[in-house]
Amino acid sequence: MSAISKNIQSIKNKSGNKKILAVVKCDAYSHHAVRVASRIENQVDWLAVANVDEGIELRMGGIKKPILVLGVPTYKNAAAYQTHNLTATVSHRTHFSILMDGTSYHINFDTGMGRLGFVPEQAEEVRQLAVANQRLICSGIYSHYATSDDPGSDYVQTQHERFVKILDHFGEIPLVHMSNTGAVANYPNLNHFDMIRTGLGMLGYNPGETRHDWLEPALTWKSTIAQVRPIKKGDVVSYSSTWMCPEDGYLATIPVGYGDGIPRSLSNKLKVNIGGKLYPQVGNVTMDYIMIYLGEDQIPTEQEVILMGKNGWTAHDWADQGKTNVHEIMTNIQGRVLRRFIDS
Ligand SMILES: *Cc1c(COP(=O)(O)O)cnc(C)c1O
Repeated sequence: MSAISKNIQSIKNKSGNKKILAVVKCDAYSHHAVRVASRIENQVDWLAVANVDEGIELRMGGIKKPILVLGVPTYKNAAAYQTHNLTATVSHRTHFSILMDGTSYHINFDTGMGRLGFVPEQAEEVRQLAVANQRLICSGIYSHYATSDDPGSDYVQTQHERFVKILDHFGEIPLVHMSNTGAVANYPNLNHFDMIRTGLGMLGYNPGETRHDWLEPALTWKSTIAQVRPIKKGDVVSYSSTWMCPEDGYLATIPVGYGDGIPRSLSNKLKVNIGGKLYPQVGNVTMDYIMIYLGEDQIPTEQEVILMGKNGWTAHDWADQGKTNVHEIMTNIQGRVLRRFIDS
């Protein structure tokens, strides 16, 4: 079984066997949406994307499962929901009139994220709008946690309670969902309603700072050494000469840079695995290359380099050192990085 399939199964088990919605927005956090979705389609109940174009891409790629679009419907894209059988998110009263007859939708309530959705006070008004708009098909209702990525947040409880109160107005809604990966990983005692929306978790990472060994990173990012040459003590490397060689040795040039998704903020911090040993990246990260100080090890060109993954620095390490989150590290990986799928 692939890592992604194992992670989905683990999340399902941990949530108390809830339905699974696989979030494959932003090209499945750069893992390639169509290829990820087609591999897991039979294992999940729903898929979600950020916008209509991403939904169309999945349909063009042959995906048949229900697809929830998390973004807002507009007059421009309303027809596409119908044409491509996408489920809309209704998060404002105007959306009830924008959507075309027969479109199915989920209602989105903002219980404290402060981003999209109706506010809790609108619950009764929204219920009446749903009843008045029988030309549309309401197939779900959801909300989104702001602080579930790390454990111990009272705000998770607050949002949960607000959502339960909203649900009191909607007796007959088929599908209720609120929990993301963090909610399942960090709040095991929470009622996760009917379905879990997981993006990062299925790819093998907990979203917050806490690391979880029950998830297995799916992605390994590799490159090869393009060039190796001797370097002398006192030599400087890369733009702005931020690194000076401490001892005579060897320097390897690797053909990946910030144009591929290595944050420039990781300059002089990143460590890569070559032949089972970690070596420091030195000097500023450039658009197309990074340089690695090998010390006295003379390693041949074309030797494999592990930039990210189980045997090198994980995306968690990247996020910690880059002062960002794993989501951003993943979505930074650019389209020119070749994806290979190994189904084991
Ligand atoms: C991105 C997103 C998710 C997935 O979050 P993960 O932390 O990757 O599990 C779930 N729900 C909504 C509304 C999202 O925007």
